[in-house]
Amino acid sequence: MTRPFFLLRLLLFAIAAALVTASCAQQVPDVRESRFMMGTLVQFTIADTDEDTALAAIRAAADEMQRIADAFTIYGDKSNTVKAFNASKPGNSVILPQEVTDVLQTALQISKQSSGAFTPAIGSLSLLWGFSLPDPPEQAPEEIAIVQALRGVDSSLIAFDGKAWKRLHADTKLDFGGIAKGYAIDRGIDVLREHGIKNAIVDAGGDLRAIGSHSGKPWRIGIRHPRETGKTLGWLEVHGDISIVTSGDYERFFMYKGKRYHHILDPQSGHPARRSISATVIAKNATLADAWSTALFVQGAKELPMLNSKGMQGIVVDADQKLHTGKMSLVPFHSGNNEGNGE
Ligand code: ADP
Ligand code: MG
Repeated sequence: MTRPFFLLRLLLFAIAAALVTASCAQQVPDVRESRFMMGTLVQFTIADTDEDTALAAIRAAADEMQRIADAFTIYGDKSNTVKAFNASKPGNSVILPQEVTDVLQTALQISKQSSGAFTPAIGSLSLLWGFSLPDPPEQAPEEIAIVQALRGVDSSLIAFDGKAWKRLHADTKLDFGGIAKGYAIDRGIDVLREHGIKNAIVDAGGDLRAIGSHSGKPWRIGIRHPRETGKTLGWLEVHGDISIVTSGDYERFFMYKGKRYHHILDPQSGHPARRSISATVIAKNATLADAWSTALFVQGAKELPMLNSKGMQGIVVDADQKLHTGKMSLVPFHSGNNEGNGE
């Protein structure tokens, strides 16, 4: 190489290096905070924002999410309107707060669309199995008790007259366990936005909503492998505003005589749903993604075309550990092991 060319290349290299340094210097580090709530570690990641603004926004979002968790839970001894409804005399009218009414209406609609695979009327059955109790079970309840609880597990036994709600059977109880976490995530994102945050992820144990981007690049979201701890089933690159929620049989379960019993129940059988071991839904908000991930888990891969027709995307690992992805209408899914930056 002749000397002038060498100098020119040296100069170009120096300029390129300076540009890289400049862009790194502009980049603010991510602000990350976690809070334990709803039985899981909720992780907040905020990009491209100064630390004080990010921390104040996270604090407000976390408080709002905790408020929602307390308002919707049917566990613990603090009173709320959902527990009051569950204890009300069947046939009596109960006024629920507007936000509970809204989430309940969404839940009932999804119940209808999923042929009852998802139902907010599953309370008696969830309480009977007891996966979310402080002392989780080690074996299945008596079949006779399951049959009894199932009498009330039917969305049509929850009535609304435009103002008040009624439960029409003594064994009909609400359980928002399959949807409230998604709603809390959505409200968390709302609060972050009210604080001026544009680029963030609110991740409640793998159930998340991502907005904006990660310093100009897409967020990379890994989906947990249902059987190999620490590995991912695959990953998604997302930007804008998207929710990704997974229901798995590995979250809350016990093994009994070699069989896995877990917390996602099939309202048809009254037992843990057996068609899937993991079901992910990608949707425009986390409330929908959460409820539909539970429905998809129960229904299995055959439900994927229906999800696609509703503008959502699904990923299912069936009981034989076979992966089904359906149409990738929203974001491409890259299968395999790859570390995400969002979880
Ligand atoms: P996680 O909350 O662990 O992420 P899911 O979103 O799938 O998992 O919700 C499971 C919870 O939803 C259960 O703990 C129970 O409270 C409730 N649930 C279980 N089966 C159903 C069902 N078929 N329909 C609606 N809710 C359900
Ligand atoms: Mg769910």
